[in-house]
Amino acid sequence: MDFEKIFLDGVEWNFVTEIVGRTFVMFLIILLILRLSGRRGVRQLTLFEVAIIIASGSAAGDPMFQDDIPVVYAIVVLGCVIIVYKLVTWLASRFTFVSHLLEGKEMIVVKDGVFDVKHENDNSYSKMEFFAELRNQSVEHLGQVRIGVLEVDGTLSLLYYDDEEVRYGLPLFPATFREVESLEGVGPFACMYCGCVVPHLSEKKMKCRRCTRDRWTKAINTKRIH
Ligand SMILES: [Zn+2]
Repeated sequence: MDFEKIFLDGVEWNFVTEIVGRTFVMFLIILLILRLSGRRGVRQLTLFEVAIIIASGSAAGDPMFQDDIPVVYAIVVLGCVIIVYKLVTWLASRFTFVSHLLEGKEMIVVKDGVFDVKHENDNSYSKMEFFAELRNQSVEHLGQVRIGVLEVDGTLSLLYYDDEEVRYGLPLFPATFREVESLEGVGPFACMYCGCVVPHLSEKKMKCRRCTRDRWTKAINTKRIH
């Protein structure tokens, strides 16, 4: 490997000091533009906001080290992006269909302690990711959750059952999320795919009546840790 070529090929040393100046200027402009966007910070981004960031990313970075790009070009690009952002955000706040078109729709993924299987063919809904998200919010099993909504920014909103209403549900942590080995032992059992709970299994590979899959684990009904 020719490290000298990778790192130093064609370097003009007097332009390096200009890069320092350009970077300071662009950084301040980017900060100013982001403040003008009106967002308070970044927690989760919707797809529309990710698109905005990609669109402005190169315009914000290139003038820092390209001597043939005047900073004013970047200001024009970033200004336009912010105008589009403001306009579209305003349209989305006035018209629901615009926001659905841009950012998708929130989606009920858990209802009454089981996964809502309506979305099982929906590509945007990855169950494994969702398991992790539930665990992050200290949900031990689905029987604790009355309703779970996947928001458009990818976060999960949960409403829980009261302690005395917690029912048997599908365990979410690896130690308990294990397929039953035999029919011995007492139920109830939970379908490992949709979370549907049955009191008994007629056979080890019984078909789930909700989702027709055939893997079962022992359901649990522990209370939520507050
Ligand atoms: Zn099922």
